Amino acid sequence: MLEASDFIRTRISDDLASGKTAQVVTRFPPEPNGYLHIGHAKSICLNFGVAREAEGVCNLRFDDTNPEKESQEYIDAITKDVQWLGFQWGGAVRYASSYFDQLYAFAEQLIEQGDAYVDSQTPEQIREGRGTLVQPGMDSPYRERPVAESLDLFRRMKAGEFADGALVLRARIDMRSGNMNLRDPILYRIRHQQHHQTGDTWCIYPMYDYTHPISDALEGITHSLCTLEFEAHRPLYDWLLNKLPQLPHPQQIEFARLNLNYTVTSKRKLKQLVDEQLVSGWDDPRLPTISGLRRRGCPPAALRNFCERVGISKSDGVVDMAMLEFCMRDELELTAPRAMAVLKPLPVTLTNLPEDHLQMLHASRHPNVDMGEREIPFTPTIFIDRSDFEEVPPKGFKRLIPGGEVRLRNAYIIRCDDVVKDADGLVTELRCSVDLATLGVNPTDRKVKGVVHWVSASHSLPAEVRVYDRLFMDAAPDRSEVDYRELMNPESLVVYADARVEPSLANAAPEQGHQFEREGYFCLDNQADGRLIFNRTVSLRDTWGKAS
Ligand code: ATP
Ligand code: MG
Repeated sequence: MLEASDFIRTRISDDLASGKTAQVVTRFPPEPNGYLHIGHAKSICLNFGVAREAEGVCNLRFDDTNPEKESQEYIDAITKDVQWLGFQWGGAVRYASSYFDQLYAFAEQLIEQGDAYVDSQTPEQIREGRGTLVQPGMDSPYRERPVAESLDLFRRMKAGEFADGALVLRARIDMRSGNMNLRDPILYRIRHQQHHQTGDTWCIYPMYDYTHPISDALEGITHSLCTLEFEAHRPLYDWLLNKLPQLPHPQQIEFARLNLNYTVTSKRKLKQLVDEQLVSGWDDPRLPTISGLRRRGCPPAALRNFCERVGISKSDGVVDMAMLEFCMRDELELTAPRAMAVLKPLPVTLTNLPEDHLQMLHASRHPNVDMGEREIPFTPTIFIDRSDFEEVPPKGFKRLIPGGEVRLRNAYIIRCDDVVKDADGLVTELRCSVDLATLGVNPTDRKVKGVVHWVSASHSLPAEVRVYDRLFMDAAPDRSEVDYRELMNPESLVVYADARVEPSLANAAPEQGHQFEREGYFCLDNQADGRLIFNRTVSLRDTWGKAS
């Protein structure tokens, strides 16, 4: 059921109510020149969401008119990302390139109507002739070229008789328009370039502004939703469809892009980070790409929820990264089973247990949701995290100190009797005694406040844990004086190569979130190749900018 919850849904509901629209058809039109990012997720959730709510359809159409920047790799990644987000397009995947014949025929029609002409100016002359925001453009000397001559040249452009840039096809609109997009925009240019879908069939390619409205019309799109920067292109969108009256006329509606702080959401910049190997690839878990978020462990429901909370508006704003993190926690809190993992292991010998002691403790996988129990082996040597022991504790430190007591989570209370160090003074082992009367019960004679997580030294599994933080130190890296690449956070990835995890994590799988108790939410890396490599999806609490 489509509810009028934002201005786009209101408008579409009105069109349905008035009978202007019988069935809603939207489309998501990515250009396959990079991987999708979180901004695209907003557009996907809107386009597919509206269609689903209105019991209509949403098409997936690749806007593939720029062959030199596009590739099959991107097409595959994009289709995967859309499905992963939980959406399915109507019918087959579509390509603007499959309309090349029709687009060409419409261009001939425009020429014949006197609405388009072939321009022989050089690219520089065309650029100069366009004028500026404060200066009107100048008519091309070829603007009054006879229809038959334009038609002949256009056919010969198509036949491959001319070099790149020698000629272009332009719409004949108004060189003095206040809207630069209407100053005889280019509709076709020559590019002797193989296309990933059409091969060598074409050496002229239509421009985006020409292709988009016609593709929308050919697919019977009713509402063409796009971002605000296309507002000034709408008059051209409408002009073209008015000149091709045999086509239906979709309604273009613009909404604000999603901008997220502490990151960049521009395919060009993301590609630069990938190409310059400043990150490990398009799916680097620190990137705001959908594939990066997936690899990091962000559940698709969290991303959908995020897009819903961001909402649809007419004015640009910047969304706080903390909101995305909140949505990840919100989802994972209920879905992620608990486990213990020690990132910086410090051996602890429990001196009052026999050497062959092995006791299976039981703990629930989730405190509030029934996920059953897990077995946790308890043995005479365990690991706790180095940060949970302090010889000289700062004020308020509640964990283990020499002579102090702490509870091992899901197990007993231990007391630290001895601290063993190496020649450099580094603590190498703690020798502790277990109070065997404290399994699941607190002592009555004293209060033990601290709780630490732990794993058995002999029964835990070695693992690598990768802890991610924001990729940029600056809230607006792409609006700064310095190049955004100089604002990268040197601590955006911290690797714990010698971590240890409890045995219940042996069968961890990618995209299955776990809460490592006291540490955060983690999931198995999708390129772990049989090893246990965990990515931190998000910390348990928002600690950004606060000393932890
Ligand atoms: P970028 O600016 O990152 O290079 P783009 O707009 O060139 O992206 P397209 O592949 O053309 O990328 O985008 C496909 C659809 O996604 C378009 O309808 C576009 O408006 C929308 N989109 C792209 N970025 C955002 C964003 N940040 N917020 C919302 N929608 C977006
Ligand atoms: Mg684009």
